[in-house]
Amino acid sequence: MRLLRVLIFLAHLGAARTETGKFWHISDLHLDPNYNASGTPLQVCPSAGSQPVPNAGPWGDYLCDSPWVLINSSIHAMKEIEPEPDFILWTGDDTPHVPNDELGEEAVLGIVERLTALIREVFPDTKVYAALGNHDFHPKNQFPAESNNIYNRVAELWRPWLSNESVALFKKGAFYSERLPGLGRAGRIVVLNTNLYYSNNKQTAGMSDPGQQFQWLEDVLTRASQAKEMVYIIGHVPPGFFEKTRNKAWFREGFNEEYLKVVRKHHGVIAGQFFGHHHTDSFRMFYDDAGAPISVMFLTPGVTPWKTTLPGVVNGANNPGIRVFEYDRATLSLQDMVTYFVNLSQANAQGTPRWELEYRVTEAYRVRDAGARSMQEALKRISSEQAALQRYYVYNSVSYDLQACGAGCRAEHVCALRAVAFDAYAGPRAKRAWGG
Ligand SMILES: [Zn+2]
Repeated sequence: MRLLRVLIFLAHLGAARTETGKFWHISDLHLDPNYNASGTPLQVCPSAGSQPVPNAGPWGDYLCDSPWVLINSSIHAMKEIEPEPDFILWTGDDTPHVPNDELGEEAVLGIVERLTALIREVFPDTKVYAALGNHDFHPKNQFPAESNNIYNRVAELWRPWLSNESVALFKKGAFYSERLPGLGRAGRIVVLNTNLYYSNNKQTAGMSDPGQQFQWLEDVLTRASQAKEMVYIIGHVPPGFFEKTRNKAWFREGFNEEYLKVVRKHHGVIAGQFFGHHHTDSFRMFYDDAGAPISVMFLTPGVTPWKTTLPGVVNGANNPGIRVFEYDRATLSLQDMVTYFVNLSQANAQGTPRWELEYRVTEAYRVRDAGARSMQEALKRISSEQAALQRYYVYNSVSYDLQACGAGCRAEHVCALRAVAFDAYAGPRAKRAWGG
């Protein structure tokens, strides 16, 4: 009897194991094609603007966007670390931080094409779900709510990864949805064009549902629920607030509210949300009206080490990061999240980049998995235990900024992690946290 029970247990264990899949999430590669380490400090990279870049190394600099060799190294590191992912999420921002007049439409498309070709060359048989970032347009951020040359050309570039239906949809609004292939996986990926909601986008100001994307999303999630599918939502610009300063949201308020409404209504089918844009490593919690955690959004760090020029952010650079998720193929529930990184100053000093494990989320915060309930527990630790806060803070910059995170820093991060809604972010609980 006992032996039988042990055998049944082992059989279950074996079955559970084969159900675990892995996928990559990469974001914000930001290629600077003119990076030149041997230039004078003012000539190293256009992405540094007028800042001099002394002692630039061959693998990149914290003041610059990524040289080609760094991006190439990151994609090949993915192939070495996890050569057969079920799929890859790639959430945009391919071009350098330079003024519009230094980068025309053809240059933007050329860079998207170069990165697409690299990923296809290294992962020829892997399905990639890709989103455009706010820098993947000309002029940057100005994404229209209707068809245009860039949506058309990018849809053709990404055709090998897309169904015919997705190509047609992408040409209209740069969003699409695909069923995850493979047996036993009742899953779906939704790729959003949240650049339409970005407050810097003048094309969509005053619109209530640009590109009818919200209506489409509502329909997709309703159908997913009827078909008993679980869904991952991905995009570039995330809702909520930037955690490295105060009061910096990306979405216009109405769009932020609308997005939250969708998540609150359909959280039962949303198994995870994956965004970029911050270049930092963070996450966002979503709650129901009773305050229970219902969904989690992971913000994946950038490959570019570029130090942000956003006002109010101190020393906002990061080490290049790449990330693997482990998930249950049958339910899409997130079992773990593993971040790999390269210490850029070390890479330059040693002459070669060494991609290494940075951390595993279940170990870092002593939680069961990477689902919403576990991440709520992680957030509790981060907000109440100094050691957990400090660990989170170091990972936030991909182990670049090792300074102590004090009370002000704690408030900025914890409020952003907890409050995606504008009113919650400015509410009494947040005010107490700010010490006001
Ligand atoms: Zn961005």
